Amino acid sequence: MPRASAAIPDPAAFLAQADRIRTSDHPRFMRMLAQIHRDAPRLGPAEQWHLRYLDAWQTGYQGDYTKADPKLRAIAEHSGNPALAARASALRLIGLGFTRRYEETFVLADRLAAELPHIKDPLARFQVLINLSQAMLLADKRDLALKYARMIEDKPPPGETLCPSRMLQITIQYDSPRLSSSSPEFHRAIETCRAAGQPVYVNALRLVMVDTYLREKQPTKALALLDRIEPEIRSSAYYEQMESAAELRAQALLALGRLAEARTAALAALSLSDPNEISEALKAVYEVLYKIEKKLGNATAALSYFERYAAQDKGYLDDVSARALAYQTVQQHLLTEKLETEKLSRQNAMLRLQRALDAKAVETGRLYILMLLLIVAFIASWLYRLKRSQMRFKRLSQHDGLTGIFNHQHFIGEAARVLQALKKKKEQACLISIDLDYFKQVNDTHGHAMGDAVLKQTVAICKQELRPADLFGRLGGEEFGILLTGCSRHQGLDIANRIRIAIDATPMGDGDRVITISASVGLASTEVSGHDLQRLCMEADAALYRAKGAGRNRVVAHAGTGDLFVTEDASRPAPTRQGDATALYVAESE
Ligand code: GH3
Ligand code: MG
Ligand code: MG
Repeated sequence: MPRASAAIPDPAAFLAQADRIRTSDHPRFMRMLAQIHRDAPRLGPAEQWHLRYLDAWQTGYQGDYTKADPKLRAIAEHSGNPALAARASALRLIGLGFTRRYEETFVLADRLAAELPHIKDPLARFQVLINLSQAMLLADKRDLALKYARMIEDKPPPGETLCPSRMLQITIQYDSPRLSSSSPEFHRAIETCRAAGQPVYVNALRLVMVDTYLREKQPTKALALLDRIEPEIRSSAYYEQMESAAELRAQALLALGRLAEARTAALAALSLSDPNEISEALKAVYEVLYKIEKKLGNATAALSYFERYAAQDKGYLDDVSARALAYQTVQQHLLTEKLETEKLSRQNAMLRLQRALDAKAVETGRLYILMLLLIVAFIASWLYRLKRSQMRFKRLSQHDGLTGIFNHQHFIGEAARVLQALKKKKEQACLISIDLDYFKQVNDTHGHAMGDAVLKQTVAICKQELRPADLFGRLGGEEFGILLTGCSRHQGLDIANRIRIAIDATPMGDGDRVITISASVGLASTEVSGHDLQRLCMEADAALYRAKGAGRNRVVAHAGTGDLFVTEDASRPAPTRQGDATALYVAESE
């Protein structure tokens, strides 16, 4: 026969099946568990976690909750499977209760109750509800316990039945006077669990029924029921139920006066339990033993059992109050935590708000700075443009539009200022007046545009002869003034004549046509006339007038009083029309 492990084709399905029958067919479950363990190395991570859960469940089922708890906790925290994690936590709840870790029980119960709306897996939800109900029963919160149990009834998961819910509801109400051995819900619950194939639950309910018979002083019925159910209980190997059955049997036998049998049963119950444990069952066992020994007249034994019974009773009562206290502590703690959390989140919200405000303030600050910079930039550009247009206006107001040199007014102003400065420095200067000869004819013959071109070219020619310190202005239509600074009369005459020659020698025109033109020049010098501008102007104009009169195309220098002084080429006749210029230095004699 091939090894069973080799025959597991679908380990996940195999595990799911084992999971389903773990209470309904516990022996088969154990076999399946052993079988899959042989296959364990071949399982994937999800199957490994499922197997670990079933192992932990089995450990708890055998009563070793202390050993089961860390395994279940690992599954809850690390399996990564929410449904399996919820089931593991639900199972922990029971183990923690059994091992009297009540505060942990109720903390976990609270957490699971909070998670309940998010637990979607029907089986996990089902188990969480059952175990929450049991935890609430432990805290004696019967209303809550009943609420959870009924929630199961609302919606049992597919494949599950109403058995656990109904059993829980019986357990919750079990010591209330409403519930008697003949109560229909008792029998309905047993039937539901039997139909569901859940012998563990059927037996649990029957044990409650036995207890109810005993409370109703019907020991015979109790014993008969025990006789009927004990073989099944033994086969399910559920340690709690075996102990319970033995204890109930002892009580029934005692009630029937079958003392020796009662003692045997009680001792059997003791052998199934840890004698140091505190439990209701042990309390009942010791009570039975004490009563038996008392009836048998064994005072010493009776006293010893009574002491243990009293210890159990006290322990049990302590335990009940410990549970209640733990529940209250946890509730208190959770409430405080909630308040703390609320306070903290309020503080955090304030902090966040503060931070947002700070960030906003920084942003606003930056915005202000940016705005300020923009305003500064705007003002700067506005000032710059203003300055530029002022300069342009100033330039326009000071310069001649056609030729670009100083206009009359500015030339006069500047000349006066410079002459004052030169006077202080005792430096000489010459003022020359230039007037183009027969210029009207140029306009009349060649048009105004040609006249303009001639004016511009005349200015360009003059500039070539001037130094940067000299002043040059257009005084009227075709009349120009030049102030030659730091210049003697002799030097002035020389420059004036060079200008005259250059104008005379340079052909001018507007591109297509070329003409020549001459100029007459009058000169006045500070050496003769002093630094007064008005006088210099008058005398330069007079000299110019004389140059015109002498025949044009010549330079006449004012020389105080006396005759004209002709420096060269005086023999040539004066030109009478444009283009017929002579090159003369004409100076007035002293
Ligand atoms: P003269 O030798 O006696 O100086 O004769 P002229 O023709 O030069 O003398 P006049 O003063 O009679 O003529 C000056 C002319 O200059 C008159 C005017 O038409 C012309 N004119 C004045 N301003 C401008 C100007 O800006 N452009 C042009 N094309 N002609 C101008
Ligand atoms: Mg002229
Ligand atoms: Mg003129």
